Amino acid sequence: MTRVCVIGAGAVGLSTALCIKSQYPSLSLTIIADRFLDATTSDGAGGLFRPDDRFVPGIDKSILSIGAEAGISQVSGYQLFNDPRPDPSYKDIVYNFRYLTKNELTTFPDHYKYGYFCTTFYVDTRKYMKYLTKQLLEKEVTFTKKKINSLDELVGSYDIVLNCTGFGAREICNDNLIRPIRGQMIRVRAPWIKHFYYTDDNCYMIPNHETIVLGGTRQLDDDNIRVDLNDKDGIWQRCLRLCPSLAQAEILWDWAGLRPNREPIRVEIETIKHGNKKLLVVHNYGHGGNGISLSWGTAVDATRLFSSLLLTIDSQNKQVTSKL
Ligand SMILES: Cc1cc2nc3c(=O)[nH]c(=O)nc-3n(C[C@H](O)[C@H](O)[C@H](O)COP(=O)(O)OP(=O)(O)OC[C@H]3O[C@@H](n4cnc5c(N)ncnc54)[C@H](O)[C@@H]3O)c2cc1C
Repeated sequence: MTRVCVIGAGAVGLSTALCIKSQYPSLSLTIIADRFLDATTSDGAGGLFRPDDRFVPGIDKSILSIGAEAGISQVSGYQLFNDPRPDPSYKDIVYNFRYLTKNELTTFPDHYKYGYFCTTFYVDTRKYMKYLTKQLLEKEVTFTKKKINSLDELVGSYDIVLNCTGFGAREICNDNLIRPIRGQMIRVRAPWIKHFYYTDDNCYMIPNHETIVLGGTRQLDDDNIRVDLNDKDGIWQRCLRLCPSLAQAEILWDWAGLRPNREPIRVEIETIKHGNKKLLVVHNYGHGGNGISLSWGTAVDATRLFSSLLLTIDSQNKQVTSKL
């Protein structure tokens, strides 16, 4: 039996484990991580499906059938810009994409000269992480709480490792291409706000099932995950200017996290050798500010690489058996 583990229990690790386990139900699979659920970056993220233009994404529309339990909903909203910009890569994937009229722009602070409207999805990340965990437990995937200091530790214990450690990959893979982009946000209750708003000057509002995420900041190479009161004030003032009715909102909690940025995202195979032992690794990390949106897509890619490794191991085993 091939010994397999996934390191990392963020959206990327859980999706990768679920994708593999759905394809190989009899495989025994362990997820190793030092942080779970609300201690991960994924749990705190805004969760809007709005990937950067570097990616040409797709939406697996089957998510609509799991929406209520998984915390996924359609949401419409506005993106506002000071400067013109090319059409986004997801233009033909989301619904109702159109440019804002001059008249619509007058309803926003007057420095926004351009904008578009569309209907996309949000993922209520807290619900989604619990949903993925429940699916995995039902499929008898086991969870182990442990910090891995180096992938070398796993040589001899596993045949294939799926490395989904997000920002942690900088340490365990010595990967200096990973850089943190710090983000801070405020969660509020303001059920009268039904649309999302996203601007090019660090202001966003994303409604979730019960709360609204207000952001944000993008601080490259800042790895401080404590809440900064100056940042909080800046976020609040920017959001209030865009949406004055927020003055009546109930403030729930503050949060800061690190977007695990890497260009490009690393989804590839590596072989680690120790004497006559080897470990096959499928890396899947470095999703930056797009890890919720792209988690299922890169899980599918990582599973494809995993399948190719299983085939190789299988044919090597057959060759050994035929020589005996
Ligand atoms: C403020 C903010 C807003 C965001 N908004 C959005 C958004 O609207 N849409 C979107 O798509 N994305 C958004 N993101 C990005 C998204 O949160 C990340 O891309 C995503 O969470 C990365 O997921 P991950 O599973 O790779 O990492 P994580 O969620 O950080 O999980 C990493 C896992 O690896 C484990 N791990 C790491 N190192 C080790 C180790 N050495 N040993 C054992 N375990 C280890 C950790 O314990 C954890 O379980 C946002 C991020 C921030 C900070």
